Amino acid sequence: MAGNEQKYVASAFETNWIAPLGPLVDKFESVLADYTGAGHCAALSSGTAAIHLALEILGVGINDEVIVQSFTFCGSINPVLYQKASPILVDSDPVTWNMDPNLLREVIEDRIKATGRKPKAVIPVHLYGMPARIDEIMQVCAEYEIPVIEDAAEALGSTFKGKKLGSFGDFGILSFNGNKIITTSGGGALLSSNEEWVAKARFLSTQARDKAIHYQHSELGYNYRLSNVLAGIGVGQMEILDKFVSLRRSNNQFYSDLFKGSGITVHQESSADFFSNHWLTAILFPADSVLLNKEILMDALLEENIESRPLWKPMHLQPLYSESKMYGGQVSEDLFERGLCLPSGSNLTDSDRDRIADVVSKVLRNAQ
Ligand SMILES: *Cc1c(COP(=O)(O)O)cnc(C)c1O
Repeated sequence: MAGNEQKYVASAFETNWIAPLGPLVDKFESVLADYTGAGHCAALSSGTAAIHLALEILGVGINDEVIVQSFTFCGSINPVLYQKASPILVDSDPVTWNMDPNLLREVIEDRIKATGRKPKAVIPVHLYGMPARIDEIMQVCAEYEIPVIEDAAEALGSTFKGKKLGSFGDFGILSFNGNKIITTSGGGALLSSNEEWVAKARFLSTQARDKAIHYQHSELGYNYRLSNVLAGIGVGQMEILDKFVSLRRSNNQFYSDLFKGSGITVHQESSADFFSNHWLTAILFPADSVLLNKEILMDALLEENIESRPLWKPMHLQPLYSESKMYGGQVSEDLFERGLCLPSGSNLTDSDRDRIADVVSKVLRNAQ
């Protein structure tokens, strides 16, 4: 937390707005819409709920296909199953680690050939805050007139060619889960330039209640709205988001200096078009090294009570999605094999960094 969150939460108590609506929900939405430049925003109970509502609003249902980046967290894809639709999984490109736009084109062509219908939506992800090649992805989807749900859950504050992520897709989604760059403990948002869609999302997220004094329902709704108390945390967090981005980016710079010349590569932007919030800093180990691999560093860090974690396990390797159609797979499998996420919190101190550097130096020395 940064400072003002408790003040906003207290104001929710003082005004007795303890409900999934209220002035702080409205405020949080307008701050997010302005910050991202997306135009409109619905504050929701999670990022997963935001993807679910986007699919619902796009009319995705039984027998529809939705193309999803395989290298991601399950929140990107589970809503496709909620809708009884079929996920079609796509591999990443080795530079951004996100959806490969050239492969995406092939996949769309192949699905049209196989089913006679276009996929109903495409879900690219900006993993670890790194922008996907979103302009190319948007271009391909525009050619085929397929809507894009841009999963920016990990990428609030990142930009592509100076434009904030979450504002490119027909829909953008954000997450404020406890592990994200800013948090409301749990929460999410749906972004869009389409005001009607966002109004529809608010309607569906509050049980689709018709305009009537009695409780009347013509459509199936959900209980997905964000609490006014939690929105207060969000409003406070947004005041320091840019500072958190620069702290996370300084972590990335620290690791980049630490691993210089070691054979380990730090995941970074490939050109000035890409600006990552570096939510988590991830590294890649050299292929087939017995002395320098992710298990050795993970174990050495753990011995000093320092947590590190493997990269997301690709969806096509998950038991739940093993039957789903997958295009490619080598890139994400290789990333999962060789990658590791390092301590990346906005609150990492100099002495934390020293402790990490000590372990890394020891491991690198042993590997020589
Ligand atoms: C966290 C996350 C989500 C889901 O957000 P929740 O708020 O946890 O439901 C979706 N996609 C990605 C890539 C995420 O990291």
